[in-house]
Amino acid sequence: MAGIKLINISKSFKNKQVLTSFSALIKDGDFVMITGPSGSGKSTLLNIIGGIETPDSGEVIVGGKNIRGLKGREKQELYQKYVGFIFQGFFLDPNLTIGENISLPGVFANMPAPALKERLKTIAKILGISDSLKKFPAETAGGQAERACIARALFLSPRVVLADEPTSNLDKESANKVLRILQVFQEKTDTTIVVASHDEAIRPFATKVITLGESQNEVY
Ligand code: ADP
Ligand code: MG
Repeated sequence: MAGIKLINISKSFKNKQVLTSFSALIKDGDFVMITGPSGSGKSTLLNIIGGIETPDSGEVIVGGKNIRGLKGREKQELYQKYVGFIFQGFFLDPNLTIGENISLPGVFANMPAPALKERLKTIAKILGISDSLKKFPAETAGGQAERACIARALFLSPRVVLADEPTSNLDKESANKVLRILQVFQEKTDTTIVVASHDEAIRPFATKVITLGESQNEVY
């Protein structure tokens, strides 16, 4: 079981120390809530796990591989297959249809067209958005865009899904629906879910809570 290991991670921006020798162990199939006040480093930590930010020091081990030792292309391939992102605000490209948006990870991974089509059909069905695939984001009802973003994140069946503030613009009912969808994936496919958020609605779904801004170090 590979999981994610963060060992003595430090990160600062200009003169601001955001993470100081932070360590945590995330097991496969965990539903992790990274919480803490605004500015405490939740997004930074999520981006470090997702390979978007590089820590100043410390080791990041994803899927059994130390990110530091990977070349650009190896790193890209690992993240492409292993990690799916749900971006803050459920961003979809307004110029692409819902179906095209969802398929993007497969396009970037050079999936052959028939496989791409088949996967889109399957994932759209799972998320209940089969009827919206030909529409543009602006033409879809509330809730469909959120589902489309989740479908895009899950397109390549990643082992880890990272979500930054996924409930921030949602009412309580929609938020719970999104969290429930993620939880079903976590439970059924042992996907690791990591959510950065201060929203207390997430806590009941979490199997592990990492709190930043207090004592930043977790002992394991
Ligand atoms: P959170 O997600 O918990 O609100 P962030 O990880 O976004 O916190 O930010 C933590 C701190 O780091 C904040 O003070 C923020 O201003 C700063 N910060 C984050 N990213 C950058 C960046 N790219 N450049 C400069 N400062 C940044
Ligand atoms: Mg943030």
